[in-house]
Amino acid sequence: MLQRRGFRRAGFFSARFAVRATLGGVKAFQLVAHGAPGRFELRELPEPRPGPGEALVRVQACGLNRLDLWLEEAGLPIPVSLPRTPGGEIAGIIAALGPDVSGWRVGDAVAVQSNLFCGECEFCRRGDESLCLRGELLGVQRDGGFAEAVVVPVRALVRLPEGVDFDTSAALTLAGSTAMHMLTRRATVRPGDWVLVIAGASGVGSSAIQIAKHLGGRVLSTGSTEAKRALARQLGAEHALDATDPDWPRQVRQLTGRRGVDLVVEHVGGETLLRCLDCLARGGTLVTCGATAGREVRFNLWPFFVKEHRLIGSYGRTRADIVATLEWAAVGRLKPVVDSVFPLERAADAFARLRSRQALGKILIKPFEPVAESD
Ligand SMILES: [Zn+2]
Repeated sequence: MLQRRGFRRAGFFSARFAVRATLGGVKAFQLVAHGAPGRFELRELPEPRPGPGEALVRVQACGLNRLDLWLEEAGLPIPVSLPRTPGGEIAGIIAALGPDVSGWRVGDAVAVQSNLFCGECEFCRRGDESLCLRGELLGVQRDGGFAEAVVVPVRALVRLPEGVDFDTSAALTLAGSTAMHMLTRRATVRPGDWVLVIAGASGVGSSAIQIAKHLGGRVLSTGSTEAKRALARQLGAEHALDATDPDWPRQVRQLTGRRGVDLVVEHVGGETLLRCLDCLARGGTLVTCGATAGREVRFNLWPFFVKEHRLIGSYGRTRADIVATLEWAAVGRLKPVVDSVFPLERAADAFARLRSRQALGKILIKPFEPVAESD
């Protein structure tokens, strides 16, 4: 499955599609009660209508992310009203446009930026949509893409480049651009730098290894199973360490001639983040975008300032990061790693698979068979 789906070349196809003008009702996979697992229902809803500045997107594929599990488990520090359709990593076709929309046509193939932004605040105006003062998370604060169709603001649309199919987009738009943001905007990789990517088989990790490698970094990674470590090596890590072995930070020191790494890409938090600080070389940087394993940590400031370490937060992505991610995918520089694909009816099984921590790469949900794909 991995070799077949993950490393195949993206199929080339025309970027515009014929779509029915109306869909009638739309099926949506909705969370109706929080839990682990939560309670979901596949519901038939009236077709949503795009308002001014909005588009109706017929969803072709939507990636599943840790964010969806946090929504399911009520683990987000933001209020959420139920029922809610999860799903923020949407690839699809524009099926209808609201009034006052220019620059887009029905049939255009698009990816959707999941961190919705106002486009007007001081941070949006300088291109830092990840810092928007009025930001909203698609699939959390408004209905997302585990549905046959979804209404989104057109400012969140990104045109799919030639050569990037819907599965590739749905596997990279959120997780891949998160890694792009961390490695190219929040931190930098100099040629020859040692880069440690935590959890290399995850959505963010699998992209981060490829991006760091392409930027000239020497990559180390971690994984909790041999299959995950093998994937990390396949993607370009020189070594993949056993995350269940408490000795792994010492192995990082050994592998780097005792100096440590220049950059850590971290998205787990808790104890893992502390162990990562131990792995930093003098002048090293730790960039983090998640805290699954714990949001509060204590660490010793003495080595932190003496060794001139940097601890950098990273949140989401900008539009420029998504454009770069899809362009890298179009030229084959960044390849999606797809673990499995589920139909909308079996989306609960997709959630269970991500929760099991057995996934190698991305899990996708597809409400329809692909409209056009030249495999
Ligand atoms: Zn804004």
